[in-house]
Amino acid sequence: MQKPLAYTPKNVWETLTRREEVDALATRYIDFLSRCKTERETVAYVCECLAKAGFSEDFTKKSVFRSLRGKTVFAARRGRNPLSDGFALIAAHVDTPRLDFKQRPLIEQPGVVQAKTHYYGGIRKYQWLARPLALHGVIVRENGEKLPVTLGEKPDEPVFCIADLLPHLAQKQGAQTINDAFEGEKLNLVLAHSPAPDTKTKGKADKKTEPVKDHLLILLHKQYGITEEDLITAEVQAVPAGPARFAGFDRSLVGGYGQDDRICVFTALEALLNAKSAGRNMAVIFWDKEEIGSDGATGATSRFFQYCVEDLSRTWGRKASTAQIFLATQAISADVQGALDPDFQDLHEKQNAALLGYGPCFSKFTGSRGKYGASEADAEFFASLRGLLNAKSIPWQTAELGKVDAGGGGTVALHLAAYGMQVIDFGPALLSMHSPFELASCADLWATLAAYRAFFED
Ligand code: MN
Ligand code: MN
Repeated sequence: MQKPLAYTPKNVWETLTRREEVDALATRYIDFLSRCKTERETVAYVCECLAKAGFSEDFTKKSVFRSLRGKTVFAARRGRNPLSDGFALIAAHVDTPRLDFKQRPLIEQPGVVQAKTHYYGGIRKYQWLARPLALHGVIVRENGEKLPVTLGEKPDEPVFCIADLLPHLAQKQGAQTINDAFEGEKLNLVLAHSPAPDTKTKGKADKKTEPVKDHLLILLHKQYGITEEDLITAEVQAVPAGPARFAGFDRSLVGGYGQDDRICVFTALEALLNAKSAGRNMAVIFWDKEEIGSDGATGATSRFFQYCVEDLSRTWGRKASTAQIFLATQAISADVQGALDPDFQDLHEKQNAALLGYGPCFSKFTGSRGKYGASEADAEFFASLRGLLNAKSIPWQTAELGKVDAGGGGTVALHLAAYGMQVIDFGPALLSMHSPFELASCADLWATLAAYRAFFED
């Protein structure tokens, strides 16, 4: 068939024949999003799925995985091709913007005890006010004993909340810029409000200056056996409470927290587990710390990924050097793109903007201004992926994040490119990205899984 001369992106919904498959996939995705709200929970879920599917931590086996500190995980499936031909690799990230407890979080202010927080990643602070939040994380005792924390998700559990200013007193704030109006130091979570029922100090107000905090510490000790000092070394994150869910009359969208980048983690993992091997060695790496620049032992700039490949070069690789493996590897940096916002269309250059429902989106480069802070995929690799998807009739699109000079952002692509491999950003578009309730198209979820699978099966 002659190709049309002009290019038009395809709407995934118009190509779908089995809507029930899309609904079933979205239902499983919603369950995953509702269960996995932190990097630790996501990595634990991934490891559990891999172990169930027969993946081993023994690198002499054909399907292997390894995690580091429960915050990043590498997995690979051996193909018929020699390892010197490299991997088909998909990289995504498991961390999401949130509010972390400070090391000494508890403060008593008039009427309440609050937890002071330090935000992680790019948030719009006002989106976190006056909404139910849950606490997820881990408390580690001096003896090394770990106490996992998940509080505020079950209907009978209490939630937590940052109070917002009432409109009646917000006149001055209304005239301020957003940055001035919402301060990081005011992102304080209400934890408790009732004073300790202490009879000994009754009537001696000077002796009991923090009655609510005293009460909270008594409760924490009774329920969890912890003291205030245990909080200092803990990792406690405040995240939006409650499950992800279908959105829209037509149930065509998934709404939920942390879809940047768990939609790519979910689809890449499904693709790895279900791809029919056509010869390629397949691998995924799910990193932490992407939202704060990819530094740290579990981020994309650490050597962990390299160590995994080095170990596989010894067990699977025969004489392949790691340099050979890296240089021959083709990678998808699986991260989300900002969808064209219907109410802020002027911030996008529409011809090069991502549309919800038009399939996973290629970004040849990310970064800002004159393409600063990004790697750029080469034309040969980009064209080969385009050919692969067209041959399988999987819709795709291409986009830049907003107008030139409107802002920008980065992904892990440049950290993969540093190994010399071919890499391109490729993932679904989201509305309300980085908000407590991001929106993704069920059609894009389906098409992204199909595309990642096609990449592995090529
Ligand atoms: Mn991301
Ligand atoms: Mn992000």
